[in-house]
This record gives sequence, C-alpha cells and structure tokens, in this order.
Amino acid sequence: MPGTREPNPTRRRIVIVGGVAGGMSAATRLRRLDESAQITVVERSGHVSYANCGLPYYVGGVIPDEGDLLLQTPQRLLERFRLDVHVDTEVVGIDADAHTVTVRSTIDGAERSIPFDTLVLSPGAVPVRPPIPGFDRVRLLRTVEDAQRLFRDVADAPSAAVVIGAGFIGLETAENLAHAGISVTVVEAAPQVLTPLDAEMAVRLEMELTAHGVTVETGVAVSEITDHAVVLADGRALPADLVVGSIGVRPDTRLAEMAGIELGPNGGIAVNDAGQTSHPDIYAVGDAVEKADSISGGSSLVALANVANRQGRRAADHIAGRDVRFAPSIGTAIVKVFDVTAAMTGWNERRLRAAGMPYRAIHSHPMNHASYYPGAEQMTIKLLFDPVDGTILGAQAVGGSGVDKRIDVIATAMSAGVKADELADLELAYAPPFSSAKDPVNMLGYMAENVLNGDCDVVAADEVAALRAQGWTVLDVRTPGEYASGSIPDSVNAPLDELREMVSRLGNGPFVVCCQVGQRGHTATQLLHELGVTARNLDGGYLTWRATMTAARHPQPVG
Ligand SMILES: Cc1cc2nc3c(=O)[nH]c(=O)nc-3n(C[C@H](O)[C@H](O)[C@H](O)COP(=O)(O)OP(=O)(O)OC[C@H]3O[C@@H](n4cnc5c(N)ncnc54)[C@H](O)[C@@H]3O)c2cc1C
Repeated sequence: MPGTREPNPTRRRIVIVGGVAGGMSAATRLRRLDESAQITVVERSGHVSYANCGLPYYVGGVIPDEGDLLLQTPQRLLERFRLDVHVDTEVVGIDADAHTVTVRSTIDGAERSIPFDTLVLSPGAVPVRPPIPGFDRVRLLRTVEDAQRLFRDVADAPSAAVVIGAGFIGLETAENLAHAGISVTVVEAAPQVLTPLDAEMAVRLEMELTAHGVTVETGVAVSEITDHAVVLADGRALPADLVVGSIGVRPDTRLAEMAGIELGPNGGIAVNDAGQTSHPDIYAVGDAVEKADSISGGSSLVALANVANRQGRRAADHIAGRDVRFAPSIGTAIVKVFDVTAAMTGWNERRLRAAGMPYRAIHSHPMNHASYYPGAEQMTIKLLFDPVDGTILGAQAVGGSGVDKRIDVIATAMSAGVKADELADLELAYAPPFSSAKDPVNMLGYMAENVLNGDCDVVAADEVAALRAQGWTVLDVRTPGEYASGSIPDSVNAPLDELREMVSRLGNGPFVVCCQVGQRGHTATQLLHELGVTARNLDGGYLTWRATMTAARHPQPVG
C-alpha cells in the first residue's frame, strides 16, 4: 500500500477533483460535517455544480436561460460553504506518496502543486470516441461549454442532423434538436433504441420518435463522417449539417492510473464500500468508479447522477469519521422521449439471459389511473424475478404519466428486499385521478404470486411459435371486434363470455390462451384447467406478442 500520512489534526486539507455531481456533493457535505477543514475543489471546465442532466433541454430551447443550469458559482460556494473553488483548472498529476496534486490553468497553462491529506476523485466519465473517419466533426454533449457550442450550431439553423447513438442522452438530444425544428435521424448500431430496455419494451419509443418526425436507423453502424453526410455501413449517406455523438461513456481513470490506483474488472476505479481506493487517503466517487451491483453481488459501471451524488455524500461521511457504507446500485433510470416515458431498474431480460441467471418475466398493460377518470393512459410494465424465491431482479415501464412512480416504487421495494409476490400487499395511495384501488404495482404482485405458486402457467411471446409447432392451438378469448382488429395468425377466437359453451367444440387442447393484455386470458386459463383442459396463458396478451414480433423484425447489426 502506498505511504499514508496522519491527517493534520487541526485543519485537514481535502482536495476534490471535479466540481459537479459527486465532487460537489462531497464538498458541501464535508463542510457541514467539518467547519475547520480546508476544502479545495478543482474543476477543469469553467463551471461548477452545473446541471449536466439539463444540457439537452438547453440545446433545444426548452430551458431558455443558460443561467438556470448553473446551480452554484465559485463565489457563492465560498460565501456559503467556505469552499476554495478553482474553475478552468485541471489536475494533471497526482503524487500519492507525497500527497500532492499538480494543477494547471486551462487559461494560461500555469502549474502549481496543492498538498492534501485526503483526495477525492470525481472526474466523471469520458465520451467514447470510436475510430470512425471524420469523427472530429462530431459534437459531444458533456459540459456547459459543449452545450453552448451545440446551441450555437442549432442557432445556425442546420437543415439536417444525425445523432449517433440511441441511448439516454442521444434520445434526449434527438428530441431537442427536433424541437428546434431540425430534421433529425438517429443511428444506432444495436437492433433497437435504448438498450437498457428489452427489445419489446423499446418498440414504443421508436414509434414515438417516428411519430414526431425523427427517422430511426437501427442495426446499422456509422462507417464515415464526411463534411455533409454520415455514411452508414450499408453504403447509404445521410445528409447532415450537424452530427452529435452519443455513443456511451467510459470511466475517466486517467488520474487514478497516474497515481497507481487499482482499477476494477470493468475498467472503473476500484473502491471499497466507503469509497476508498487502493490508496486509503484517496477516495473516488461517481461515474469514474465501479459500483457494487445489487443483483449479481459483483461490480458494474453505472453512470447516473443519483448514484454519484449519494456516493459523494457517503465518501464525505467516511472522511469525517462516520461509519457509513455505499449502498449497492440497482441502476434506476428514466428518460422522456417526446410524450413517452421509459423507466427501468435492476437488470433487463437480455442481461439475465446472458449471465445464465434463472428468471421469470411478466408483462402488464395497466392504465395509469382509474380508466373511468378522464385522461387515463395505458402503460406497459415488465417485471423480472427469481422463479424460486421471488427476488425482484428488474423492472421496466414505458408509457405516459405514472411510469416514473411505478418504477420508483419497485426500485424502493427492491432496495428493501420486498419479493415480487409481496408487491401485492404494498399499501399505495389511491384516488381515481392517480391510480386504481389495485395499483399497477399491486397487480404485478398478484401476477407474480400466481406464477410463483403455480396458479398460472404463463407462456412468453417468443415461445408461441415453438408450442404451435408441437401442436398447441392459440385460443383468443377477446371479443370478435378485438380479434378482427388484429390477432395472432391461425388463432381461434373463443370469447371469454362464451367459452363455457364453446369448450366442448374446441377439443382438449393444449391451448395457448391469448387476450389483449393477459388478464382475461388468466381467467380463461383457470376455467379451462377446471374443465380438465391443458392451457397456458400468454404473458402480456396480444399487445406483448405484437411488440415482441415487431422487435424481432428489427434489423440485426450491419458493420
Ligand atoms: C447531457 C447529460 C445528460 C445526463 N442526464 C442524466 C439524467 O437525466 N439522469 C441521470 O441520472 N444522469 C444523467 N447524466 C449523467 C450524470 O450527469 C452523471 O452520472 C453525473 O454527473 C456523474 O457525476 P460525477 O461527479 O461522477 O461526474 P461529473 O458530474 O461529470 O463531473 C465530473 C467533473 O470533473 C471534471 N474533471 C474531470 N477531470 C478533471 C481533472 N483532471 N481536473 C479537474 N476537473 C476534472 C469535469 O470537467 C467534470 O465537470 C447525464 C449526463 C450528461 C452529460
């Protein structure tokens, strides 16, 4: 272990690298806990404590005043917290043994050394820059300066823009460029947009983008960026006066590596559960570090503001002598894409499958509030849980109003160790404008309970074809009107209310029972079981089957 030094008992010198989410949370918390500490914050950009999450909305003019993004200034931080804040100053070296950092002015290049007893690294993440010819022309969106540059580009009224990458920031940027009146194409190498969602859940986002005039190209990589176009791997050239890159980020570990600090298996800074790196006087928080993963018990990279802020606070607590621990991360995130919200927590099905972890998946399509109260909107929720003990492994929701609250309730339940079937017993606020007496989260609990106790044997949409090949018949129990408006090919319509009379003519099955969302299908499946007929209910009904088939038709990656 590199040399450590007893902290200065009178006035501890704490240097913090990075003055935004994790760094500023650590700085202000430390001041609240230790009035005597000498706290220095070093920030490379021209601003501290800026709202990077709001940058896309400034670019699109939704947040018209740039000043609204600047939550603090060095002067205000000095007055209120006695923080010594240096903007336009980059930490360019760390001597861990000597307990000094070398800083360089980004304005005049002047260098000097600052001693520390404790160092906190919160340098964030760096955008991925793929080795695509012409990528130098691509705008990135990370800092206020980036947003100002992009804002000026937008003011020049480009006729066409291409956003490379359909992750959170890419989609927010696409929406905002479209909002500014620009013709936008999103190019994504994966077969779907927003890969933290499973494919069938992402279909609605793609439809929403298209409905608002954004062209979506999935399953194709960018091969070159020329002066006026983005060239795709399949040879097409998309006209583009403006190109924005949002291909992902990786932890900024340059300083840590310079200081000989250990990295974790995913390439982030390795920290213990108090935020200490392999050097006990050097802490690290935020996007740069690996997080304990609450699902696997291993570590993972989670680049989210909530995690960075709470790690900053916890590291400060530990520096101040408190016995605290970083809570494991479950990766709860949310994004707005025009009028649709997508939110998620925990692992998705793709990741569970890749890791070989056993799981069950259920889908529901509830209304956000009582359907009889004006303005009810349908959402889709997917819940993933352990098939044996019901541990919740993840959830995703896509829809309008109320999506955020359902995912936040499930995320809270996961943190508290509430099992999937126990969601049924959560006592949640209800009045018709807000929810239903059986909230969508409660309904997921009932469905999970039915699966876990064997009351309901569900079939996943992508299993239907195989079952049909084995002789199963799809029995559609919706009304003839619903059936006529779209159905699984070669299914047989037997409306639920007529099923008792029809069953003798239908034969002994076996049946995959299908309704619109899975609820009537459950009742029909139970009825068929009572009558001695083999039947399994189609999870999420026709709506989930249709989304799954739509997703399966998406192009696989080119290039
Ligand atoms: C456009 C955008 C939108 C986002 N939207 C969301 C969202 O809606 N929800 C969400 O949860 N998360 C969002 N995020 C992610 C979130 O902002 C980050 O997870 C969070 O800010 C990470 O905090 P951090 O302290 O680790 O790093 P940052 O907040 O990125 O701060 C790191 C700072 O360190 C500075 N720095 C780096 N190296 C040095 C050095 N050597 N010397 C001095 N200073 C240095 C950088 O200039 C930077 O200002 C968004 C990010 C961006 C860019």
